[in-house]
Amino acid sequence: MTTSDERCQLAFSLAGTEHEVLLLSNLEDVRWCSGFTGSNGWLVISRDSTTLLTDGRYMEQARSQVPNHVDVVECRTAEVMAETLGRVAPSGTIAVQEGDLTVSAWRRIATAVGRRLASASAELANLRRAKTAEEIATVRRAARIADDALASCLELLRPGVSERAVRDVLEARMRELGADGPSYDTIVASGPINSARPHHRPTERVFQSGDSVVIDVGALIDGYHSDMTRTFFVGDPIAELLDWYRTLLEAQATALDLVAPGRAVRDIDAACRAVLARDGLEEWFTHGLGHGVGLLIHENPFLNGTSRADLRPGDVVTIEPGLYRGGFGGMRIEDLILVTDSSHENLTSSPKDPTCPR
Ligand code: ZN
Ligand code: ZN
Repeated sequence: MTTSDERCQLAFSLAGTEHEVLLLSNLEDVRWCSGFTGSNGWLVISRDSTTLLTDGRYMEQARSQVPNHVDVVECRTAEVMAETLGRVAPSGTIAVQEGDLTVSAWRRIATAVGRRLASASAELANLRRAKTAEEIATVRRAARIADDALASCLELLRPGVSERAVRDVLEARMRELGADGPSYDTIVASGPINSARPHHRPTERVFQSGDSVVIDVGALIDGYHSDMTRTFFVGDPIAELLDWYRTLLEAQATALDLVAPGRAVRDIDAACRAVLARDGLEEWFTHGLGHGVGLLIHENPFLNGTSRADLRPGDVVTIEPGLYRGGFGGMRIEDLILVTDSSHENLTSSPKDPTCPR
């Protein structure tokens, strides 16, 4: 358990201690540091103070959500923001989140404060990576709800049922089981064309015998996401689809085995692709291996072949290799994994048997 004060000071130090003040603009970071969940919020953090800037719509909510150490100031203009920044830190550089600030916001703020804005250290992007026990418990609950919802929908995976029908039932079940809603637009992708699109949106297409059906589903609880994918075969698929699935399952297991603190993510990505390459399937794996999950569905660390990141204890990441060939079919297997002090724990418990009940 970390306090809001500790989180604010962590953000301040990750931004680079050469700066006098940090202007935090990323809403998930603002939420993580202060508890404020409104859609307009900025945190001005110095070594010894934190101020939340928001507009009139959120003043009451802000006062009730933030702890005592955070001052709340109503702010509609860059001039009011500049006033607060000047009061908190009369001199020195102001660190901002360059990946999060629009060019126009950067210009407006710089003009109003009349001082140099500097990019915060890239390390600030890792602020929310190490999940606390409380956050892990929430993600675990979300993962469990998605598992249970999927299990209750398997009987729908038969010829004549549409992608949208399965999506609707899955999302309703997750709400019944206590989720605030789906973690993202649930993917139900079937047959030779749709299942070969990694981010397909469910349609009225009905399942046919021989289809592969990719279901990517997660639950949202208190702002925290879960994420998993399973692939099923309706009826009897052609032998080549089954061969693909066996190789994909082995590639995913190979990657899972390597998940541990200190491991370079690109080594995990390479090991997974090596299994696919052995069977001549590497070219059909067209996206990254995985991503961090937390207050955002896609967040640091990103797992791919070009990343320089190593896994750390407390990371919650997906391992999700897939194979997609338009006109033939597609498949993906995705688990949500917690990196522990010595190894990892799989937060997804849905079985990986692709056979549908008959
Ligand atoms: Zn997913
Ligand atoms: Zn994912």
